[in-house]
Amino acid sequence: MLRYRKAVTYGFHVLLGALEQHGTTTRYEVRFGETPASTAEHIRAALATGAKVLVLWSFYSPDAAALAEELALVRRLADGPSVLHIAGGVHATAEPVQTLDAGWDIAAVGEGETTLLKLVDAVGAPTGITGLVYRDAAGDIIKTGRPERRPLDDFRGFSLRWDRFNALEITRGCVFSCRFCQTPFMFSAKFRHRSVADVRWHVDRMRERGLRDVRFITPTALSYGSQTDEPNLAAVEDLLASCHEGIGPRGRVFFGSFPSEIRPEHVSREALRLVRRYCANTNIIVGAQSGSDRVLAAAKRGHDVEQVRRAARLAIEEGFRINVDMIFGMPGEDHADVQASLSLARELAELGARIHAHTFMPLPGTPWRDAPAGDVDPETVREVDRLSQRGALYGHWQRQRDHAHRLAAAAQAYPRPGRSRTLLPVVTPADPAVPDQGGR
Ligand code: SF4
Repeated sequence: MLRYRKAVTYGFHVLLGALEQHGTTTRYEVRFGETPASTAEHIRAALATGAKVLVLWSFYSPDAAALAEELALVRRLADGPSVLHIAGGVHATAEPVQTLDAGWDIAAVGEGETTLLKLVDAVGAPTGITGLVYRDAAGDIIKTGRPERRPLDDFRGFSLRWDRFNALEITRGCVFSCRFCQTPFMFSAKFRHRSVADVRWHVDRMRERGLRDVRFITPTALSYGSQTDEPNLAAVEDLLASCHEGIGPRGRVFFGSFPSEIRPEHVSREALRLVRRYCANTNIIVGAQSGSDRVLAAAKRGHDVEQVRRAARLAIEEGFRINVDMIFGMPGEDHADVQASLSLARELAELGARIHAHTFMPLPGTPWRDAPAGDVDPETVREVDRLSQRGALYGHWQRQRDHAHRLAAAAQAYPRPGRSRTLLPVVTPADPAVPDQGGR
């Protein structure tokens, strides 16, 4: 059973892609629970046949509290000793004990493909399967270690058998180590790329099914084919040329736009012209995050503000609309830093860019997990609102403020061993060089 929510379909499709290729002696069926009520209904129906039911959940950290309430509701509607609720994804990986305490039977940590296949083979018995955290009969925590990280080509990026398609994951992991980001923690600080041949196999299957739009999931689009912080444009061109040919004249390829983005220092005329030559997107998304070099250095972003300006100008000169991600309320951000971010936002908006605004959230698994919730002062809120009313800014930054406070409270309730708030990696005006917090 998948607790199948729109926000997390991609992760489930990848699991289904792995499952459909897997030979097993276990007889199983897959059901999609699209609401709590239908999930409970499916569980009741399965229990009536004497089946064992594994209910798979996946969620991001900001949604963890709401999903725990939903889990309790599903349990009230349908439950039994043959039902196991298993939480996977980045939150369960970073906070497995919190996840168990919130009501799940098992937290699946790390990448889920091999773990799921072994669980299916073992008809749900977790003993000896890596990638799991659960309590034994005595209530003690059992951790079985991280599962193997396999090449992306080993598993399908979507599911043909269950007819579930999505943007194709072309890169997993990230060599950058931005302190607010869960990606390097979840998938390692190395890039693993899906090969061009394997991507093309997927694109060919999409075309056969009448699908027209090819989009990609990647932490940093222009890092495709690279193992360093530099782009590999030859690899990007191979990828885009093959996808363009594969999806055919009626199809479209999107690169560097939703749901992925481009790092500002990777933007070059050559790269933008590649996108123009092979892709249909007229906009690109660039991660700027802050208008303060001091905050960018503290966040270990690996680029400066001038590179953001340069990227925006180049993109606009090359005829792209540009969306720029920015985060307000980063740890240690002072009044001058906020003013610098607002000033950059105004400057980019004047150029024609749209700002995608976020509030800093102390995400589990990141070096800034124990930082205070992002705080946005009323003056900043007014300025952000003004940009928003002009259509120059959008995003869920207000809702993220609430999420940030919940996450900060949860982090306090579950302190990491050896950590305390006095050890926070918060930049101070006198000390912009923050010691490495081991973000990779
Ligand atoms: S925010 Fe930084 S660490 Fe995270 S995926 Fe993007 S470049 Fe990588």
